[in-house]
Amino acid sequence: MESQVEEIKKKLDIVDVINRFVTLKKRGHHFIANCPFHQEKTPSFIVSPELQIFKCFGCGKAGDMFTFIQEFERVDFKESLEELAKIAGVKLEKSAQYSAVESKRQRLFLLNLETAKFYHYMLTSHSLGKTALEYLINRGIQLDTVKLFKIGFSPIDPQLLSAYLTKKGFTVGELIASGTFGQSSYNRHQLYDRFQGRLVFPLADFRDRILGFSGRVLPGAKKELAKYINSPETSIYHKSQTVFGLNLSKEFVKKNSTVIVTEGEFDMISPFQAGFKNIVAIKGTAFTSDQLQLLRRYADTLILALDSDFAGNNAARKSIELADSFDFDIQVLDLGQDFKDPDEAIHQNLDFFHQQLDHPLPIWDYLINSAVITNDPNTIKGKKQILSLVLPFISKINNSVIRSDYLHKLAETIGSTLESVTQESSKISAPLPALSREGPGKGFDSPPTPPPDSQIDNFEQYLLILIFSAQKPAIIARRLRSKYQFITPRFASVYQSLLLVKKYYPKKFFNSLPPELQPIFQDIHLSASNLKLEPIHRRREISKIINYIQSKKIKQQLADISRQLSVAEKNDDSAKITQLEIEYNQLLATLSGHQSSK
Ligand SMILES: [Zn+2]
Repeated sequence: MESQVEEIKKKLDIVDVINRFVTLKKRGHHFIANCPFHQEKTPSFIVSPELQIFKCFGCGKAGDMFTFIQEFERVDFKESLEELAKIAGVKLEKSAQYSAVESKRQRLFLLNLETAKFYHYMLTSHSLGKTALEYLINRGIQLDTVKLFKIGFSPIDPQLLSAYLTKKGFTVGELIASGTFGQSSYNRHQLYDRFQGRLVFPLADFRDRILGFSGRVLPGAKKELAKYINSPETSIYHKSQTVFGLNLSKEFVKKNSTVIVTEGEFDMISPFQAGFKNIVAIKGTAFTSDQLQLLRRYADTLILALDSDFAGNNAARKSIELADSFDFDIQVLDLGQDFKDPDEAIHQNLDFFHQQLDHPLPIWDYLINSAVITNDPNTIKGKKQILSLVLPFISKINNSVIRSDYLHKLAETIGSTLESVTQESSKISAPLPALSREGPGKGFDSPPTPPPDSQIDNFEQYLLILIFSAQKPAIIARRLRSKYQFITPRFASVYQSLLLVKKYYPKKFFNSLPPELQPIFQDIHLSASNLKLEPIHRRREISKIINYIQSKKIKQQLADISRQLSVAEKNDDSAKITQLEIEYNQLLATLSGHQSSK
């Protein structure tokens, strides 16, 4: 297996691998991005093509391409091996191959895939699915689209699917674990298919694995049936983490940095079929953090294409606040009063849909506009209504400049003053504190100077970072030889190794280090590439740091002498006291010299 990992690493470049998921920007010899593992505004995620590693200076996640896949897709090593082997075109040996029986999760994916095939067959090729297929075609869904989304139909026959799956070798336990089946209350051994009589949409993750299903009733179904039902939570299906359609649209979302968000399956499928491919559905108006985090990997802009009355409800308000806290640029596809949802608009007036999508409204403008349509801003009652509809949103805008702009706009709209609107706004609630998005790394433009009270090893690490940030680190290292001696053993070793180098190449240097020093060097190398310093500033910074460390060393010695002094005083050892006092004063003089030369 070891050799296969190496074979894959030789064939693939970590930059290409990560770039499939996160848009990387070139920065010198390195690539940077906003970290996909934590929220941030300034990039602290860095990829080194030279060492074939990544590291985030915000949250600390780091590793090679295998680690990245494991972290990003929340999979284990074997799954990451399998995926990268596929990309690299490397055929895995039998022992390394993923055996389906090994993992229960894997069995459930397989079971769901069979279930989807069964439903799809019933819809497209069986007489039992004829009415359902006609319904879809009448709704304007083409057969190719039905196939692409693997849409299916569950016939009204409680045992058909369970018999099919049992024949395929799945156990009753696995059938129950899949969530597709319920147990009859009369006879617990009797399983029934939850989705009977419904159109079925497979819910896939962004790797195209089927997690669960959503079922919609057909027209003419009994009134007491819920229009939509979903699989219950299982070991692989978590509603809060699922975004419908992302498996098919993620490339388009990434290319546009923009994602259109709809409420339901048909609102996603119809525009997708019409060519608006950077689109997903969240099933309802309420976002979860997991969904936003997932979308944030691919998009900066969120275009809400929700039902026309979405702004009126609480769930939508919370969603907008949450999306704002993820620093999305939030816009709204305004379908006006004529269409109740994107699906309807696509089928009735494609040009209008296209036009509106070309000019989405910033969410805050949309909220003000829609409040003004339904309420007269010239009457007292109207003003109150508009304020109560719009202020709860605007007073929570994360960015204070934008918040104040919109308070201004709102004041203008209702013919009031900024002061009184601001006053009303402060009654509602203080703006949400920004979610913690910056880790200790603080992005790329601030060099990681350790605070003055840091330990010596922090300073020494920083000193090495400064050295390695130079064009020719080996030369800088040799110049420093007479001025400074490293104390911390691991940093001293890295420094010594650098002194032996004639011409510095990161990869060659890395390979020359003993294994225990390699991770230490990786961190230094990556931090060094963050630093963009002019040579003169680097020189100044280096002597400043050396001064810091020297003073720190002296202060430690002073403290040490003080301790010895008090012992000597206790013992009345006057000779010792005199000697210590001389040393003490000499050190003090050196220290003041260091501090004044800063
Ligand atoms: Zn991070």
